[in-house]
Formats: sequence, structure tokens, C-alpha cells
Amino acid sequence: MKCRNAWVTLATNDTYSLGALVLAHSLKKVKTAFNLVILITPNVTHAMRGTLQSIFDEIKEVDVMDSGDVENLRLLARPELGITFTKLHCWKLTQYEKCVFLDADTLVLQNCDELFEREEFSAAPDVGWPDCFNSGVFVFKPSEETYKNLIDFAITHGSFDGGDQGLLNMFFADWATGNPNKRLPFLYNLSSAAIYSYLPAFKKFGKGVKIVHFISNSKPWLQPFNSVTKTVQTTVDSTHLTDFLQYWWNLFCSAVHPKLS
Ligand code: UDP
Ligand code: MN
Repeated sequence: MKCRNAWVTLATNDTYSLGALVLAHSLKKVKTAFNLVILITPNVTHAMRGTLQSIFDEIKEVDVMDSGDVENLRLLARPELGITFTKLHCWKLTQYEKCVFLDADTLVLQNCDELFEREEFSAAPDVGWPDCFNSGVFVFKPSEETYKNLIDFAITHGSFDGGDQGLLNMFFADWATGNPNKRLPFLYNLSSAAIYSYLPAFKKFGKGVKIVHFISNSKPWLQPFNSVTKTVQTTVDSTHLTDFLQYWWNLFCSAVHPKLS
């Protein structure tokens, strides 16, 4: 049976591909019923594509600036929106009815297949400004029309933070005040920063975490790792965050590293 739902991630280089590979294995480990799709750009190496193929159901190459279609030509006037534009390509996956986008620096800890019961546009609050959503995890409905509207919007208004999060928050502007079902619980996008900014809340509610998001410089692949003891030697002074980083590295060592060529 053809799958109508898919998890979608993005990697523009081999480093973020490592994150995507661990993410994919974390989804398999919680036995998701849905397809895994990755958007990549041309500079992801041939060897890495081979590894990605072993776990993702679909790899879609998206070309940021050169493909020559009308939207791309118009975006050439706004080169700063390049990476943002790349994420927007997920709306073109119209072979799927509904999808959930996950940043390559997220890690799934419990089965979250119920997210596909939510509507576009559902996302969780951002820790820096909770009236904005964080664009690392979101439920969306692929549509050529929405894609075109997003590109038009990007060209006209730009992005207030220079990235996809600013753009998407302006486009889906009623997120904070509209349908409350579109406001996902924070446990679906637990920002690594929240663990130390509100430790008592993490201690009270953290057991329910479903997806952890290693924002900014807490990226697992940037942490020193001792390959003899197989432990992450992180400098972040939070044992809770260290546990999540260690889980990422455990998956990397057991499932990803043996498949890298
Ligand atoms: N990304 C990428 N290459 C880059 C930067 C970002 O592929 O050079 C993708 C990747 O999926 C990443 C997402 O865009 O998870 C958003 O960027 P990032 O997670 O670094 O931002 P943060 O969550 O730290 O704000
Ligand atoms: Mn991220």
C-alpha cells in the first residue's frame, strides 16, 4: 500500500546528513508506520547518498538556485533566502497527503505517529519567543499552491530573522492566536536550551519528551566524542542534555557509523 504520510528532513551537506541518518534510525527504532524522505542539495556527496538510500524511502535532490524555474529566477534577487528556500521545497512533496518536517538536528525518543492527525500548520513554541513557533518540527500539507504562495511571500516580505523560522511565522501568522490544536505540546520539540533555562520544569515533565531538538551549538556531531569509551565528552554542564547527546551517539555508533563508506 502506498504511504500517504511522510517524515521529511533536509541536509545541504554531509555533516547535516549525519544528523539526518541518526534521526531516521531514531524513527525506525520507535517503529513509525510512515515513510522517511530527505531533501538534499547537489553538494551532498555520492558516498553519502548511498548511505542515505539505505534508510530513507525517498531522497529528493532540490536545487537552490540553478534549476531555472520562475520562482528560482525571482529568488536570485534575494540570495540571502537560499537556505530558507531549500526548506520550503518540502511543500512540493505532493505525492503525500500530510507530512511532518523534522530538522536534521532533532532526535525522536518515542513514537509520534499521532502528529499526522494534526492539521497544517502545527508547531511547538520557540523557547526564545513563545508567541512564535519553532520551525524545527512542523506538520504541513504538501501543495504546489502553498509553495508558490510561500515563495511570493518570501520575495515580497523577506524573513525577519533571515531564516525559514521568521518567514514561516509571518506566513502562518495566526498560529499563536488561532486554532489551539495547531499549538503542539513543547514535548514534541523540546529545545536543548530549555533543559538548563527551566530545569525544574524539565525534571517534572521531561520524562514525556517525544522529540529533542539540539538547537544552535548543542549539535551532537559538534561535541567531542571518545571513541574508546564510546562516551560523549560534552562541555555542556547538564547531565540531562548529556543523556540525550549520548543516545544520539549510541545510535550513530551502532547504526550509522558501520554504514558509512
Ligand atoms: N540545514 C542544512 N544545512 C545547513 C544548515 C541547516 O541542511 O548548513 C538544515 C538542517 O536540516 C537543519 C535545519 O536546516 O537542521 C535548520 O538549521 P539548524 O538546525 O542548524 O538551526 P537551529 O535549529 O540550530 O536554529
Ligand atoms: Mn535545528
